[in-house]
Amino acid sequence: MTAPLLDVHDLQTHFPIRKGLLRKTVGAVQAVDGVSFTIPRGTTLGLVGESGCGKTTAGRSILRLVEPTGGSVRFAGEDVRALSGGQLRGLRRRMQIVFQDPYGSLNPRMQVRSILEEGLVIHGMGDAAARREKMVAALERTGLTAAALERYPHEFSGGQRQRIAIARALVLEPEFVVLDEPISALDVSIQAQVVNLLVDLREQFGLTYLFISHDLSVVGYIADEVAVMYLGRIVERCTAKELATTPLHPYTHALFSAVPSVEPARRRSRIVLAGDVPSPSRPPSGCRFHPRCPLAETICTETDPPATMAAGHLVHCHVAAQAIEQAQGDVAAASARIAEAMAKP
Ligand code: SF4
Repeated sequence: MTAPLLDVHDLQTHFPIRKGLLRKTVGAVQAVDGVSFTIPRGTTLGLVGESGCGKTTAGRSILRLVEPTGGSVRFAGEDVRALSGGQLRGLRRRMQIVFQDPYGSLNPRMQVRSILEEGLVIHGMGDAAARREKMVAALERTGLTAAALERYPHEFSGGQRQRIAIARALVLEPEFVVLDEPISALDVSIQAQVVNLLVDLREQFGLTYLFISHDLSVVGYIADEVAVMYLGRIVERCTAKELATTPLHPYTHALFSAVPSVEPARRRSRIVLAGDVPSPSRPPSGCRFHPRCPLAETICTETDPPATMAAGHLVHCHVAAQAIEQAQGDVAAASARIAEAMAKP
């Protein structure tokens, strides 16, 4: 078996809470708290969850745009957290990011030429003529033309700006791209075009993606595997197809119940979760989801659910573990039991 391109193990990113005149540390916001996953080369992992669950911080911590406080990140066998200076810069060229907001992520005072050329100059990639060739090629791959080079971001629509942001990442010839909610700021009418562009580029260049989104249907379309995050942790991980057909974690069931479907057979009754997501500075004891979980039992308030693996499907839930055991490892049957229990008033 070949090693994955990205191997994230027990990643933690805690932000200190400081108070008083002496700015004493009195606690920590546990934005990411023990996240592990791998992404094989040429595949896409979808990272989903409500806003504030830590998925964006996880993506940025992998690239060290935010410094992780624990755990390890290995990219193509290299220990990302151990690198500094030129080595880190070199790795950054191979690991790019496309941000959510194409309005905020492109400097309005810079022509597209300067926006695209900046990274090429930093990484010493070619002379002026070679750089222009690379920039034009990147623009054309994203459906724009060389004419865009002389224009400013405000002269483009939201969808075109996101294409420029994608071209800025592509021009550096990366192997891995973090796509942080890349379509959620766009009009619904152009979201599908940008998703299809990302799929085409992945196939064309053998790219590997971490696709961060709150939208399960988009993630299901683009991702090979999906990890569901809740309050800084991954609670479920499996293939996109399995997650859509046989979810196990009660939180995933609730997320799917909120996804509208045009097919009557696929419509699920809406599960409304009680309360709001608790603060990551004071996560609940035991299972972090227990204050909102309709299936919570006493053990859930006391003991953090360990990982249960059944047929390659990972879940952190006491009740799901019981259901899997009762169904003798049959994930579909366990999923149906949980769905039935969740549907009870
Ligand atoms: Fe709900 Fe308990 Fe499972 Fe947590 S461990 S998701 S509280 S049933």
